Amino acid sequence: MHDLMIIGGGPASVAAGVYAARKRLKTAIITEEIGGQSAVSEGIENWVGSPKVSGAELAKLFRAHLDAVKGDAVTFEMHERVVSLEQTPEKLFLARTKNGKEFTAKAVLIASGAGRRKLDIPGAEKFENKGVTYCASCDGPLFSEMDVAVIGGGNAGFETALQLLAYAKSVTLIHRHAEFKADPITVEKARVHPNMRIIAPAEPTEIMGEQFVTGLKYKEKDSSEVKELAVSGIFAEIGVVPNTGFVEEMVALDDIKRIKVDPRNQRASIEGVWAAGDCTDELYHQNNIAAGDGVKALEDIYLWLKKK
Ligand SMILES: Cc1cc2nc3c(=O)[nH]c(=O)nc-3n(C[C@H](O)[C@H](O)[C@H](O)COP(=O)(O)OP(=O)(O)OC[C@H]3O[C@@H](n4cnc5c(N)ncnc54)[C@H](O)[C@@H]3O)c2cc1C
Repeated sequence: MHDLMIIGGGPASVAAGVYAARKRLKTAIITEEIGGQSAVSEGIENWVGSPKVSGAELAKLFRAHLDAVKGDAVTFEMHERVVSLEQTPEKLFLARTKNGKEFTAKAVLIASGAGRRKLDIPGAEKFENKGVTYCASCDGPLFSEMDVAVIGGGNAGFETALQLLAYAKSVTLIHRHAEFKADPITVEKARVHPNMRIIAPAEPTEIMGEQFVTGLKYKEKDSSEVKELAVSGIFAEIGVVPNTGFVEEMVALDDIKRIKVDPRNQRASIEGVWAAGDCTDELYHQNNIAAGDGVKALEDIYLWLKKK
């Protein structure tokens, strides 16, 4: 039996794991992988203390930091996906994984983050992995010297466009609002590239193709005109959905299924459960914020466990 289970392996989990190790809490980190969402990023330029680090390198540093401090306090349950979490009659927490393993602990920190929101227009499902993709770092090079589109005007959309500009013939970014959510510096980097085109405000309406994607229909918001764009690849970066399905019966969620937490200490609605990072109703989704939330939760978990 553990003092603490941490579910997830992104920055929120890793930061909490480092603190748990230093406080010698008997902790199991149960996760599919260590690194989290930005592990696929070519370059992270706002991780405090590092002017630029690739997502893959940051993931390695996360693991190295945990390995350096874990001692015999922290153990890893890698390649495990938690499918259910429940409270036992003894007020412990029991997690079950997809591979049939069970873990119990006195306290739980949920740091399961978020995944990509899927496009919901005709053709999106049919052409997934046949031109429609949700990961530029994974699939971008397949579209070398081709015309591609990026859907979404947040940081992820513009970062994707910047990655693709290195090898695609042209990149057209389509965004439904006239303003972009992305940082102005990132927007500007993309905007000045000669092979970059931005269409906004516009709404994608259909993905066209036979065996593979050949184009995208979109509606210009100002004119209501439907136009066609000939592209071979469509990279959708339209937001994220929280990975909270396994706790929806147990803790209070907001209307978009994020775990409601007390922002002072990251406590969820049930005594003994904390949540940190992108799986929570935290307003801003960033690596540094997720890590800070993880630390805040751990400090509170430590005091709570000591009082038990
Ligand atoms: C392409 C991209 C680039 C980004 N670039 C930046 C950037 O430059 N700077 C920045 O600050 N932020 C960036 N972000 C945002 C940042 O990555 C997130 O805010 C941050 O990763 C959130 O951390 P987290 O620990 O809450 O969750 P996540 O990073 O989402 O990690 C969740 C972890 O939980 C695991 N998991 C999920 N469900 C389960 C389950 N049921 N059981 C077990 N394990 C589970 C996952 O495998 C993963 O390890 C980027 C995001 C993306 C997608």
